[in-house]
Amino acid sequence: MTGTTTNSIAAAPAVILFGSPGSGKGTQAKLLRQTIGPHISTGDMLRAHVRLDDDLGHRAETLIKAGKLVPDEVVNELVDERIQEPDCKDGLILDGYPRTVKQAQVLLNMMQRDGFRPAVVHLVVDYDKIVARLSGRRECPVCGTIYSLTSNPPKIAGKCDLDGSALVTREDDKESVIRERLREYDSQTLPILSFFKDAGVSLFEINGGEDSPQRILEKITERLSGKNGAPQESVRA
Ligand code: ADP
Repeated sequence: MTGTTTNSIAAAPAVILFGSPGSGKGTQAKLLRQTIGPHISTGDMLRAHVRLDDDLGHRAETLIKAGKLVPDEVVNELVDERIQEPDCKDGLILDGYPRTVKQAQVLLNMMQRDGFRPAVVHLVVDYDKIVARLSGRRECPVCGTIYSLTSNPPKIAGKCDLDGSALVTREDDKESVIRERLREYDSQTLPILSFFKDAGVSLFEINGGEDSPQRILEKITERLSGKNGAPQESVRA
């Protein structure tokens, strides 16, 4: 694969935010969407189906609550449909997808088909920080803003700064489930990195454990724009 589709010169960026649960993918996606394009989170899409109480939601709910991955075919189809929406044509951000080598293979085929230029941003955070981070995470169910009880608390306890909604804790942010999610990440998701490297996909690591979200955003933006020696190659066959 070369990324050489008819529109390869102006190929739209597809930023793949990669990293363990709690590494800050969702936070960075929400900051990056102003410049890159829509934030596509398979976790958010699956939770929307759970709230709708539809068939897909029923299949996903038990797995999500247990910290297990949802079958590849289910998420592949969700992403396939979503990236063909008109708002994705100038670029998009993927958060929480791909999570298995099979998903990564399917994604690269979709990227080539639709003329996207994938770039993987790997947010690296020590696991000992992750558990503390996720157990203190609170989310606005209305606008999706993420808070941290330790590093970024809401101005009024339990309320979203932007719309005043009552903040919620995700059911899978319990310590036992967090540990299962990390096990799934180690066994199923980390192997994707060597798959991407072998496929020649542009890939860089950012330390996601020390700086503020704003500083991490700056580092990502610098690397994506090719400053600081960022790799800029497209997918290679
Ligand atoms: P996090 O990255 O913090 O674990 P997500 O919102 O991305 O949170 O995912 C929550 C859960 O949704 C996962 O534990 C898994 O059950 C399911 N899920 C999300 N994305 C995928 C995917 N690409 N493949 C399989 N399951 C997924």
